Amino acid sequence: MILPIVLYGDPVLRKKAEIVSPDFPQIKELIISMFETMYGAQGVGIAAPQVGIPIRMFVIDAAGMNDRPENIEDLTNFKRIFINPIINSEEGEKWSFEEGCLSIPGIREEVIRYPQINITYQNEKFETLNESFIGLKARIIQHEYDHIEGILFTDHISSLRKQLNKTKMNRIQKGEMETDYPVKVYSGRKR
Ligand code: ZN
Repeated sequence: MILPIVLYGDPVLRKKAEIVSPDFPQIKELIISMFETMYGAQGVGIAAPQVGIPIRMFVIDAAGMNDRPENIEDLTNFKRIFINPIINSEEGEKWSFEEGCLSIPGIREEVIRYPQINITYQNEKFETLNESFIGLKARIIQHEYDHIEGILFTDHISSLRKQLNKTKMNRIQKGEMETDYPVKVYSGRKR
């Protein structure tokens, strides 16, 4: 099921997400829906808070990125489900790459990150795995990991770039930004 993607401005994107237990209701269905939602929006990763559920889980399938001219890495087999991930280390010489986010449509900015990470996580069977990733794979994980910590990629940009994006960000928050996928705008009103 394609779920609406929560847009910038919704407090769920700012929460530190909760640990997921194997008996979390309908976790299998949620994982399937997250992949469908991500594919439907032509994304390469999506975190649970982006569909309104503040739990420590994200999914990635970067195969779609292989066609993009800026990409020089083979991402064909980079499909993963990360549950309760912990980034153990980040290393190497920081590098810059243009990122975007399904929750912040229409904005792309250069973000500086470490090129190498080691991560421990659970898969959909709640088996614990440990893997190291480099380059774009590491970057996509770092971007999604930020989401479960309540951090957005626009937090990493300079105050000048933030200022330049302010009008656009306000428009996203108000739901005035066009997207070709379903979104949920946070009204800010409590009933
Ligand atoms: Zn994002």
